[in-house]
Amino acid sequence: MTNKELDDLYRKYVMHTYSNYPVVLTRGEGCRVWDVEGKEYLDFLAGIAVCSLGHCHPKLVAAVKDQVSKLIHISNWYLNEPQIRLAQLLVENSFADRAFFCNSGAEANEAAIKLARKWAKETKGRGCYEIICIDLAFHGRTLATITASGQEKLHQGFEPLVPGFKYVPFNDLDALRQLLGPATAAIMIEPILGESGIILPEQGYLKEVRHLCDQQGLLLILDEVQMGLGRTGSLFAYQQFDFTPDIMTLAKALGGGVPIGAMLAKEEVASHFGPGTHGSTFGGNPLVCAAAIVSFNLLLEDGVLDNSRRQGAYLLQKLNQLKSEFPIISEVRGKGLAVALELNKKGDDIITACRQEGLLLNLTMGKILRFLPPLVVTETEIDQAIDVLTKVLRAQS
Ligand code: PLP
Repeated sequence: MTNKELDDLYRKYVMHTYSNYPVVLTRGEGCRVWDVEGKEYLDFLAGIAVCSLGHCHPKLVAAVKDQVSKLIHISNWYLNEPQIRLAQLLVENSFADRAFFCNSGAEANEAAIKLARKWAKETKGRGCYEIICIDLAFHGRTLATITASGQEKLHQGFEPLVPGFKYVPFNDLDALRQLLGPATAAIMIEPILGESGIILPEQGYLKEVRHLCDQQGLLLILDEVQMGLGRTGSLFAYQQFDFTPDIMTLAKALGGGVPIGAMLAKEEVASHFGPGTHGSTFGGNPLVCAAAIVSFNLLLEDGVLDNSRRQGAYLLQKLNQLKSEFPIISEVRGKGLAVALELNKKGDDIITACRQEGLLLNLTMGKILRFLPPLVVTETEIDQAIDVLTKVLRAQS
């Protein structure tokens, strides 16, 4: 079947929640994917920061094949070794003492919100439940996580929202200080705003947020769903900003493409989740955990973090060169392989033209091109992407 034929069927049978492109992808290898008609693309979106090891990494494929033939799912009424081993890996390589497993970023953030509320009620009293969030942050699509996401457009049509959330602009410490009160339980934050276009924290900002939490006895919930696991060049983003959170959420790259989320916490917080307080049928099943163990070990062992830093710097340098040539580019920014190129006009035509030329990119906030390639991307592949973008920008200027 062709892209067009399958797109027609999709439009007929699938709910229209995505404004997606009429391209049916059928195969992937490394940083490349192919559509149903055999056209090849360089994938600089990587399933929105999910396929960090590239598509179908042979060791990930082998681990999934092996696990799928042994045991796929059992429920959390019983233990499974991959889940135990994955929790151990995450704890031994982070600030955290315990992990809870779920299936997505939104679910990890739901778990974090519930844990923060329970901790606050049990340690600070019934009237303490508010979570201060960030304007333009993105934490997911469940009712509590759209509420936590400080974006009007995500809320519209779904009111009444979950009570107990307040918002301040990113990088604004004064606004944050003014909102703190006896009802405040936690501050919830992304280390770098991902969906809003790779907005970086100002020097010292995150450390000061931590300091405020310590002073006021609040929890710091860090959403590393998009920025964690090597995306910014370190295993976790917080490691580059010289602080540790109390709760951290992960998903996206955790399973290398299989759906898994995790919520990690320090013991004094985690201990407030006892049996029956939270759970998930699929959370941490043997299949997804086996995939996550291999993905995590590959991140640590195969020089992937180093590549993320090096190629990220190279991509930034190349995009900055384009900025000096094309006045349509207003800003280039990023950390590791989370990189944004902001335009001073709408970018839909550029994204479409890039796709037609075989480069998959993401457009966010209407005019920000987001580059989230696999962390194993090579300099040659970056050069190819830059060649496509240059050609497209020339044709549009
Ligand atoms: N948190 C952040 C920072 C994200 O970028 C996303 C998704 O883009 C989410 C949470 C939600 O993750 P999911 O789509 O897996 O529910």
